[in-house]
Order: sequence, then C-alpha cells, then structure tokens
Amino acid sequence: MIDVNTKLYGVFGDPVGHSLSPLMHNAALRYLGLNAVYLAFQVQDLPRAMDGVRALGISGLSITIPHKIAVIPYLDCLTPLAQHIGAVNTVIYRSGILEGDNTDSQGAMLALREKTDLAGKRVGLIGAGGAARAIAFGLIQAGASVTVLNRSADKGQHLAEAVRGTFAPLDQSAELECDILINTTPLGMFPHTNKSPVPSSAFKPGMVVMDIVYKPLMTLFLQQAQAQGCDIVDGLSMFVYQGAFQFSAWTGLEAPRQIMRETVLSAL
Ligand code: NAP
Repeated sequence: MIDVNTKLYGVFGDPVGHSLSPLMHNAALRYLGLNAVYLAFQVQDLPRAMDGVRALGISGLSITIPHKIAVIPYLDCLTPLAQHIGAVNTVIYRSGILEGDNTDSQGAMLALREKTDLAGKRVGLIGAGGAARAIAFGLIQAGASVTVLNRSADKGQHLAEAVRGTFAPLDQSAELECDILINTTPLGMFPHTNKSPVPSSAFKPGMVVMDIVYKPLMTLFLQQAQAQGCDIVDGLSMFVYQGAFQFSAWTGLEAPRQIMRETVLSAL
C-alpha cells in the first residue's frame, strides 16, 4: 500500500529508460514487504534534482551515466571507498546527510571471486571509464596487478598511474599475458551485439574472462572467450551484487539476491 510513510528510492541517469534497476529493486522491496518504491528519473539538471532529493526526502539513489562523478559536489560526504575511486553509484540520505558510496567495485570483485582468487593475478582491464576505475581499485586492493587497455591513451595512462599499473593500447590486446581479462567498455551491448573490443587471439585457454555488459548476457566478447577455452563471468552477476550492496546500504537489510537475479534474468 502506498501511503504517507512510503519511502522513495530511485535512479538518476540520462538516458535511463534501459535501466533494469527499477525492476530489480522493486522486486526486492516487494519480496521483503517493505513500504517503499523505486523509480527511474531521467535527470539532465543534476543540481536541481539533488535539491529535490533533500526537499522531498528521497531515501536512496542509484547514480548512473553520466552523473557518477558530477554528483560528488552535491553530497555531504563520501565513504572512503567512493573517495578513493572518485565516483559514486549509490547515494544514501539519512538524518539530513547525503552520503555517496560506490558498490560497483565490491560487486565486480564478488562476481569474479565466484570463479577465481584475485591475489597475485595479472588482470587486463579493457576501458578506462567510471566502471573501469571502480574495478581497478577493487583489483589492486585484492592484491592483483592491472594493465589498462584503452582506446584513448591519455585516459588509459591516467587510470594505470592511479592504480600503479601499466598501460597498453587496446590494439595490442593479443600480446598481453594475463590471467583475467575484463571488458568494461559498452562494446557488444544491445543493439550493437556484433562488436567486441578485442580479436579472438586475445584469449588464451584457462583465462577467466568477465564482461560487465549484461544485455545480452552472452556478448560476442564472452562467446570468443568461451570458444578459446576460457572460464567466463557474465555482467549479470556484477549487476546483481552491486544492486544488493545498494539495497543493504539503504534499508539495513540483507538483499534477496536470488529474487533480484531471477527478476533481471527473466527481463533479459
Ligand atoms: P564510461 O565512463 O563512458 O567509459 C566507457 C569506456 O569505454 C571508455 O574507456 C571508452 O574509451 C571505452 N569505449 C567506449 N566506446 C568505445 C569504442 N567504440 N571502442 C573502444 N573503446 C570504447 O562508461 P562506464 O560508466 O564505465 O560504463 C561502461 C559500461 O559498463 C556500460 O555499458 C555500462 O552499462 C556497464 N556497466 C555495467 C555494470 C554492471 O553492474 N554490470 C556496472 C557499471 C557499468 P575512451 O577512453 O577511449 O573513450
């Protein structure tokens, strides 16, 4: 029942119509019988939208493209992890304080750990955007070493320096020796499903290969990897884990991960 006590959560992004977060979080809220709803907001005017969060008392937000860095000046504080990463994908509004957090990093680490240990592993990280940054910091905290493979050298080098890793141009991916290869670019995402950031020669048998694109679940990148005998991790695992961490940060409850996963899977 929606009444005066109903809590409001949501996602701020632009575009935001493709987001599966409303479906996933509403399924979790309903499953636990919480008096709350989660809505998608297409936000272009971020400063005024953030004023709205305070004025209306929105309890929590997911932040997505293109606001993950731009939102920071409108928050009162950041968790140490979000501060370290320099990007926010989660906002918690409690006792008049807006706090920014980043759950992409922990979400990706849990998804990878379903297949492999991370300490001492050599990771090829394709891309140098917001998601790559969150994942790179998670990887070095876990004791892995990172080579950033990126189209733009300046952005790639910048991220590599920030995580004391190395940089290599994306077109040299086939020469890279690594144990784990991760795609954080949008290449291969619906409707451009015939695209992959690397040639098949970049994959070696035994490598663990993760794509953070989850629509489609079996991207061309993952198909190439599987054909070369790699162990694959799809983007759904990270999506559900990062969402589960958000849900717990907002509600203080353990997220119903299985329900969240099944709901998103059925929509895909
Ligand atoms: P972003 O900040 O815009 O970064 C995109 C990166 O992809 C940049 O490094 C960019 O390279 C590279 N790139 C884009 N188009 C390219 C192309 N045609 N060829 C080569 N490289 C290209 O985006 P983001 O926030 O990191 O998000 C990236 C993807 O991850 C999105 O598809 C998003 O939906 C997905 N994601 C998934 C999850 C999950 O939970 N599964 C979580 C977060 C994000 P340049 O530096 O050269 O421009």
